Amino acid sequence: MLNRDDVFCELGIGPVWRLRGNPAPSPHASHPASAYTWEQLADAVAHCTACKLHTSRTQGVLGIGDRNADWLIIGEAPGADEDRLGEPFVGQAGKLLDAMLAAIDLKRGENVYIANVLKSRPPGNRNPEPDEVAACRPYLLAQIELIQPKLILALGRFAAQSLLDTDEAITRLRGRVHRFQNVPLVVTYHPAYLLRNLPDKARAWEDLCLARRTMQTLI
Ligand code: URA
Repeated sequence: MLNRDDVFCELGIGPVWRLRGNPAPSPHASHPASAYTWEQLADAVAHCTACKLHTSRTQGVLGIGDRNADWLIIGEAPGADEDRLGEPFVGQAGKLLDAMLAAIDLKRGENVYIANVLKSRPPGNRNPEPDEVAACRPYLLAQIELIQPKLILALGRFAAQSLLDTDEAITRLRGRVHRFQNVPLVVTYHPAYLLRNLPDKARAWEDLCLARRTMQTLI
């Protein structure tokens, strides 16, 4: 487990802001009926042939974590490691994501659920195509219905733009609270991008603080 100093070091920033206190655990509101149960959803993703990606993927990657989480983290699509292991964000970007979560006192699997816009890996990590996003959308909507998250954190340009149905630049989408399916949504940089663009880690920290502050108003 990383300590706070390790986390700031990992994020490449100094401890400029200190977070005070932990939020009290919140009781979850009862879930409305979903089109799927979790078992049906997992089965549907595992056997999905709704887009061409099913011909090249190893397996569908539904998501991982606490199915009653307040936090829903949404990335783009499984990469090679995720396609092989069946879990989102397990490579280098996943390590940084874990550090980003730790910076706001969160841990994969504890009050956090991690998913992607696409459940199947685009070959060669190419960008997802619009028909693939459309085909996968019902699965993401079902996940949101089942989880009933209090806040969504969208990782990167692709997730942000496709969730918000906009082509606005990520620089313009950051820094404010949007809504997706009536759930507050905060945009930050994708950890894979941050690995290549270290100076933007400080901006990502600002985004995490915004997300954390927003969550505190919701619980
Ligand atoms: N990048 C993503 O957007 N999602 C993953 O699961 C892994 C890398």
